Amino acid sequence: MKKAIVIGINGQDGSYMAEWLLSERYQVLGWVRPGRLNAVENLLSIQDLISLQEIDLTESEEIIHSLEKFQPDEIYNLASPSRPHESWQYAVNIGDVTAAGVTRILEAILQVNPLIKYYQASSSEMFGSPTESPQNEKTAFAPRNPYGVAKLYAHWMVQNYRHYHHLFAVSGILFNHESPRRGKDFVTRKIARGAAKIKLGLSNDLVLGDLDARRDWGYAPDYVHFMWLMLQQDQPTNYVIGTGKTNSVRDFCEEAFSYLDLDYRDYVVQDPLLVRPKETIQLVADPSKACRLLGWEAKTNFKEIVQIMVSAEMNDLQGTHNPPQQEMNNFIINRRNLS
Ligand code: NAP
Repeated sequence: MKKAIVIGINGQDGSYMAEWLLSERYQVLGWVRPGRLNAVENLLSIQDLISLQEIDLTESEEIIHSLEKFQPDEIYNLASPSRPHESWQYAVNIGDVTAAGVTRILEAILQVNPLIKYYQASSSEMFGSPTESPQNEKTAFAPRNPYGVAKLYAHWMVQNYRHYHHLFAVSGILFNHESPRRGKDFVTRKIARGAAKIKLGLSNDLVLGDLDARRDWGYAPDYVHFMWLMLQQDQPTNYVIGTGKTNSVRDFCEEAFSYLDLDYRDYVVQDPLLVRPKETIQLVADPSKACRLLGWEAKTNFKEIVQIMVSAEMNDLQGTHNPPQQEMNNFIINRRNLS
């Protein structure tokens, strides 16, 4: 039985990754940050099948000790504060966790067992203000916030440890990916929940920023499959992952409200104070390397993602079922379709 550590297991991607690994019959140890052992909302359906440990990514000794004890084959590092625009509020701390934390893990791998394979959650935010569109593995980086800078430091360290120390350490440069487990402050989740509340008479309107902002949105369970695939290859290398298509916030609203037989124009209000400066060059993935070498493709399209998210919010607000369990079922069905 293979063993994997999922860092940030209670987040969106961490919880889907744990489910994926269990379905592949791994023994799974999840790391959560100090004080978050009870924050297991996303793990309810699998909590008896995994082990959890509190690890502080600023403490090398804790990291080394956990690796020595568990002896993993693979590590998926999905932990980081994940709201780029807010990262100015904790610019020093994000460097310690998201940037230097990765060096601590790589050093621990070297010390405990250099054969451990390592996946790093890099981000399209590293492209920041790109000079070309779409972006691929060779596009120049130009991060615009502490999150992007910290992710870029980690990205380069992973590449350097791979070249200098010959570790099997890789980065997936992922574009936005969503699901019912997306953080509540992200725009897709706000729209899905807002539309469901309006449908149920719990709210009258939904206030958003720029409706014309465009994003390359994929489905998180599809993306964790790709992360796992990267560690199953003979040669370690980085990949860009995204759908290669963009949709606007307005498109998301239109789809979400019409799924509930509503017209978004009757409810959505644009607040100019929430509008961010426009990107001059569109952020959108060129995932052709992953398609060519890994046979990867996004299985779930934009319309399906919106519908999955809105249904989950309706069910949650109506208390009709336990969303994580329902999602786990959907995930297993999707997983069967992939294999
Ligand atoms: P998420 O749901 O916000 O999960 C982030 C995880 O990191 C959570 O387990 C969170 O734990 C943990 N974390 C937050 N602050 C931490 C800290 N100071 N020390 C240790 N752990 C901390 O994000 P996600 O969408 O699953 O994303 C997973 C990874 O992919 C992240 O590294 C993110 O930056 C990256 N990424 C995401 C996207 C995307 O569109 N989703 C795109 C590109 C890259 P708590 O629950 O305790 O806060």
